[in-house]
Amino acid sequence: MRSLAIYGKGGIGKSTITANISVALAESGYRVLQIGCDPKHDSTRLLLGGFTQSTVLDLLKERSNPPTLGDVILTGYKGIKCIEAGGPEPGVGCAGRGIISMATFLNKSGLDLNDFDFVIYDVLGDVVCGGFGVPMRNEYSNEIYVVSSGELMSLYAANNIAKGIRNFSNPCGKLAGIIGNERGVKGEDQLLEEFAERLGTRLLTIFPRRELFREAELNCMTIMEYAPQSELADQFRKLAELIASGPGTVLPAPLEEDELLELNLVYCDGRSLRRVPRPERTRTMAFEPTPDFSIARPQLKREVRPTHFADRDPLHGCTLGGAHNVTAQLRDCVTVMHSPAGCAYMSIDGLMSVGYRGKLSALPHLLPNLLSTSIGEEHVVFGGEGHLEELIIDAHRRLRPRAIFLITSCPVSIIGDNWDQIVRKLCSGGIKVIPVQSEGVIGGDYQRGMVNAYRAIADEFIDRTVSPQPDRLNLVGERNTSRFADRNFASMKEIFEGLGLRVNCRFVRDTTTEEVRNFLRGEVSVLASKDALCTELRSLLYDGYGAEFLDAAFPVGFHETVEFVTKLGERFGRERAADDLVASAERDYTAAKGSLKRALSGKKVMIFSYTQHLDWLIATLLDLDMQILKLCLYDSCTERNFRSAYKGLVDVESGYPPEKRGQDIIDMKPDLVLTNYIPRELVGDAVYDIIPLSPLNGFYGGLEQARAWAQKMRVRFQEGWREDAELFDLAP
Ligand code: SF4
Repeated sequence: MRSLAIYGKGGIGKSTITANISVALAESGYRVLQIGCDPKHDSTRLLLGGFTQSTVLDLLKERSNPPTLGDVILTGYKGIKCIEAGGPEPGVGCAGRGIISMATFLNKSGLDLNDFDFVIYDVLGDVVCGGFGVPMRNEYSNEIYVVSSGELMSLYAANNIAKGIRNFSNPCGKLAGIIGNERGVKGEDQLLEEFAERLGTRLLTIFPRRELFREAELNCMTIMEYAPQSELADQFRKLAELIASGPGTVLPAPLEEDELLELNLVYCDGRSLRRVPRPERTRTMAFEPTPDFSIARPQLKREVRPTHFADRDPLHGCTLGGAHNVTAQLRDCVTVMHSPAGCAYMSIDGLMSVGYRGKLSALPHLLPNLLSTSIGEEHVVFGGEGHLEELIIDAHRRLRPRAIFLITSCPVSIIGDNWDQIVRKLCSGGIKVIPVQSEGVIGGDYQRGMVNAYRAIADEFIDRTVSPQPDRLNLVGERNTSRFADRNFASMKEIFEGLGLRVNCRFVRDTTTEEVRNFLRGEVSVLASKDALCTELRSLLYDGYGAEFLDAAFPVGFHETVEFVTKLGERFGRERAADDLVASAERDYTAAKGSLKRALSGKKVMIFSYTQHLDWLIATLLDLDMQILKLCLYDSCTERNFRSAYKGLVDVESGYPPEKRGQDIIDMKPDLVLTNYIPRELVGDAVYDIIPLSPLNGFYGGLEQARAWAQKMRVRFQEGWREDAELFDLAP
């Protein structure tokens, strides 16, 4: 597949020329897709007999569900496939951003460009903002052709496009030539020749001004269809042949403004030409499909994955924060956020505040390892790539990290910064930059960002040649934002060591790239939870790397932990050690349970929860002879499937509407209400306590929670703190 972009000033005739080239290529047997990237959406009209097709952007705007490929592709003359991007009305919105949205849609739609021999983008060239530059990027086009007449403004636009090509393309450039379209100005042909020569490219052909163009257009046809025997049709055939033969592409040398003016004066007024020596900046290369200059990271094309963990609004967090949650855990790496400073602040503040509350050990390395490009007005207007490049080079020089993760924010995607190119350039210069698929909320929610980061780390560092070593375990998906993270690791480690096992790699928490590299030394991997995130990580590592997983996750509470230790003992042939561990824990658990029962036995409990894995909690309540009145499960953004060994024993209501809670508590009169978030208005006489989203692991996790319930109940009866509301005039 070859991918062409045809640029030119609005009204210069590039859509007519593009449609005719498409037909000429199709006539030679090539499979062609033409994509119109002009808000006027008339690129494909002549291929469709004058029919104006629905545009991608209109369909995206009008429909609540995304359109399908069938909605946006029509088949035109000679079987040419046609797509129109569309765009906003003049004077409103951002047409450039529209091009980015169209490109993202096509990426996600499953369109396989390899089904075509030629994909041709027909792009408006007046406005070379980030969005209009998208078809110039390496992942979209291999060659760029510019349509121009000899008029000053047309040449001016063509020169600007050449500047854009210098910014966007690979080191060898991709300007494939100028296509002349006469307007009848004085000395036009020579002027175009001279212009092309100065750019360092060639003039492929010049189409004369002919009434036939207008006639064909009035009949809603291309010249190729309307007058196939005409000279013009032959000229298009020759041009198509030239294109198909693979013309040389160059890195153009755009003209200075006064140079451009002088050229015009020379040819229009016959003034003498001042030969300005051109800098040696052009380089010709033979055509090769999608030249690859990414030495360290060949695969930079943005992959498409679902953005939400569950398709429920509102979006929970953004991919930027989620990705940083994970990349921050590699002690020998640096994370660069291409973002406003506020995004970096929000992200680090989230990690640090949880860290401080939980007195986590993984904190010290977090701050120096996060840098932000702090993009502002200036970068939005002029592009932030240069600043990003400087920051990464500086971070590489000062901090000497093993790798630099690049996480992008939504503003960067909205303006269409071409950071891919910077990554390629830096990687080819020896700096290891690992882009994590992000784009803020555009890329998805917090957990999607986490998975993207885990994937990037695995792809980059896990060494597939490493062999498993006995008695080594990997830990996968530890909760970095849990205040119990360190305590949980300690209690799990105690169990592993009790069975004579060693932790090989924590994927990914407070670790190094070397430990990740040796991930496959771990004989077995253990998930930190069975939630949706960990389930996806398991697939990632099992499908991608053949990692074996224990059929149990970090346990909470006595009964889960007994099962966990037993399975671990069986897997590693340490049954005796596992039995001893369980027996000793059982003695301690029974003693602790006895004292708590005195305070809690017979108490009535209601549970309101977003988390759906609650067997540890139910088991603890039942162990303490407490009475569960009702288990109310809210719709969760990340989990839907309630699974429980106690399903028949407990009254469960799934999809519970939060507004029912108050009345249910008044009606059912529980002594204790357990919930993920304690509401501001407390109804009834119950004591309220939190169900941690990430509870304490190990034999005693459930009892630790129960200890808090017992304490709260004691405090309430002795002190009557609720009466304090009257002091502050808050009583109803
Ligand atoms: S949603 Fe966008 S702007 Fe907000 S923190 Fe995330 S990346 Fe930054």
